[in-house]
Amino acid sequence: MSFFNSIGRSMTRAPRNPKRSMTPTSTTFPAETQSPTVANTNSKQMGPPAQKPLYLCSPFVEAALVKGNFKTIVMLPKYVDIMEWVAVNSLCVFIFDFYTNLNEFYGVLTEFCTQHTCPTMSAGTTLNYTWINQDRKHVHLPAGTYIDYVLTWVQNMLDDDNVFPTKSGQDFPPSFPSTVKHIYRQLLRVFAHIYHAHFAQILHLRSEPHFNSLFAHFLAFGAEFELLEMKDLKGSSSSAVGIGALWERWKGMGILAV
Ligand SMILES: [Zn+2]
Repeated sequence: MSFFNSIGRSMTRAPRNPKRSMTPTSTTFPAETQSPTVANTNSKQMGPPAQKPLYLCSPFVEAALVKGNFKTIVMLPKYVDIMEWVAVNSLCVFIFDFYTNLNEFYGVLTEFCTQHTCPTMSAGTTLNYTWINQDRKHVHLPAGTYIDYVLTWVQNMLDDDNVFPTKSGQDFPPSFPSTVKHIYRQLLRVFAHIYHAHFAQILHLRSEPHFNSLFAHFLAFGAEFELLEMKDLKGSSSSAVGIGALWERWKGMGILAV
C-alpha cells in the first residue's frame, strides 16, 4: 500500500477501535531512522504571546485523580535491574496501559480532529510536527492521519512478540530500550496535540482529571526510566511544545518530583 493511499484510507476511517488490525508497512510508518521531526513552519503565527492555554489555568491544571507525587507510584524495587525480565515486563505493562488509555481518549476526540480543524500535527503556537515519507521528505499531515499512523504502529509493536516478548524467560531484543524510547516520543506527541488542540473538548467531556492523571503518570514514568527527552518535551525557544509549560507547572506544584 502506498503512502498516499494510506492517507486516503485514514481520512475515511471508522470510529477508532482500540484493537487495531491494520498493518502499516515500512513505507507508511517510519523506522527508528525515520522519526518524524519537529518543523517550525508557522512563522506567520509568530507574534505577541497568545492567551494562556486552558490546561495551564486553575482549576484545570490541578485536576488529577491521584493526589500527591506521581514519582512514588512508578518506582520499581531498586534491587531489580531494569533489563531483568520482571522489570522489563512491568515496563511493558505500563507502556501498554498508557497506549490503551491514550487510544481510548483519542477515540472520543476523533470527530473533533478533522482535516479541517487540524490540518497539521500542531503541538504549540509555532510548532507542527512533520512526518517523513518513503522519499525521506518531511511532509505535513493532518493531525488525525499522523495520530492514526502512530497509534497503529504502536499497536503493531505491542502485538509483535519479537519486540515485546510475552513468554517468561524469552530474551528482549537489544534494540528494546531504543524502541521503547521511540514509542514514548511518539505517544508524547499525541498527548501534546490533544492538550494543544483539544483541551476544550476534554473539559466539555469533564475528563480533565482523568487525562491529567494519565499524562502526569506518563511523565513521571518516563522521567523515572529515562524514556523522556527534554528536547521532545519542551521543543526549542522558537517552536516550544505547549505541554512543556505544563510539565514545569506540575514540577512546581510537587506533582512531579523530578
Ligand atoms: Zn486535532
